[in-house]
Amino acid sequence: MSIKGERLKQHLEELAEIGKIGETGVCRLAHSKEDRKAVEVVKRWMEEAGLTTKIDGFGNLIGRIEGSQPDQPILILGSHIDSQPYGGRFDGTAGALGAIEVVHSMKENGVNPTRTIEVICFSDEEGCRFNKGIFGVRGLAGMLEEGELERQDKQGVTRREALKEFGVDSDMSPSPVYQKGDIAAFLELHIEQGPVLEQKKKPVGIVSGISGPIWLTVTLEGFAGHAGSVPMQMRQDALLGASDIIRRFDDLVKREGTETTVGTVGSMQVFPNSRNIIAEKVEFTVDLRDIDLEARTRLEEKLYKIIEESTAEYKLKVEIKEDTRSEPRYCADWIKDIMKEEDGKLGFDSPTLMSGPFHDALIMSYISDYGMIFVRCEKGISHNPLEFAEMEDIEKGVQLLYRTAVRISQS
Ligand SMILES: [Zn+2]
Repeated sequence: MSIKGERLKQHLEELAEIGKIGETGVCRLAHSKEDRKAVEVVKRWMEEAGLTTKIDGFGNLIGRIEGSQPDQPILILGSHIDSQPYGGRFDGTAGALGAIEVVHSMKENGVNPTRTIEVICFSDEEGCRFNKGIFGVRGLAGMLEEGELERQDKQGVTRREALKEFGVDSDMSPSPVYQKGDIAAFLELHIEQGPVLEQKKKPVGIVSGISGPIWLTVTLEGFAGHAGSVPMQMRQDALLGASDIIRRFDDLVKREGTETTVGTVGSMQVFPNSRNIIAEKVEFTVDLRDIDLEARTRLEEKLYKIIEESTAEYKLKVEIKEDTRSEPRYCADWIKDIMKEEDGKLGFDSPTLMSGPFHDALIMSYISDYGMIFVRCEKGISHNPLEFAEMEDIEKGVQLLYRTAVRISQS
């Protein structure tokens, strides 16, 4: 009772040809021509696997196979096949094609599901084109926002127009498509996009949950002056204040964070940004995450204290804007238990780890119990053409997905 690794490999290779850039990269932006081409190819593979397919009003590709007890809550498997503009071959695709392989193998192995199974390739997970992602899954879960179809890409094309070009008459009215209780479980396999499994020398990991980020924008305001004339003691240098805060924030997370806390300042704007003017205004972002909400809150409070101290020391005004505050979402214990049991039978000895990045599963968690499987990827590199995962590792992950799906579909 196994999946067909060779077929999965062929599918991954063939899909990587669509929107290929360079030797190993892909660019399949949401709702683009390349995305459509990929959807067509993957749709054919779904049909070969015995699934009945459709593309819905959000651009999701959905395959369905009826269970012997269609009234039972269903099992959903899936991930995404759109990519970053300068992306890799495995992000999303390993899980999306892995899910199709699971259903195809079930059919070939004579496994008849009791529950209906759906395999979904969620539309626009990445969010780079319209600067807002996990679009398709939010449509399914009823979590779309006002003006979602009017968002524009860099060329001024709205999502509504892009979807039309993609071949979909966008229709938000069916949202939410699923109600609480419709879905028994959602399973997603994804490459880790981090270095933990590589470090632990394990091909596969069982995910404990997705840590929620806090995103802040901090603006510091001092006073501009000539770099040659204002004495050091009289300065109100916003860049100096920002540097102090950023270094102390890093120190705080390293010293007092848990094993799973991560804190990052990844973007900064300096005004007027001139070599001979003391910086008057600096804006920088903060990304703070942890699966442990209490730990995150504790560090957030300490960060505010640091900001207060630094701005007092450097005589700066400060404004803190909260852009995002999402809570950690935990995988269901009963699904993790099944995974651990099957993992034991396979002899993988897979560790449990949390997910720093979010995935389609984050949104699915609001309408269903969910479980996730991670596959080791080289040096944790992702969102980059250099992204790489060994086929052998992906096969092992999909094997675990298969066994978990069989158990849940027959329960
Ligand atoms: Zn992804």
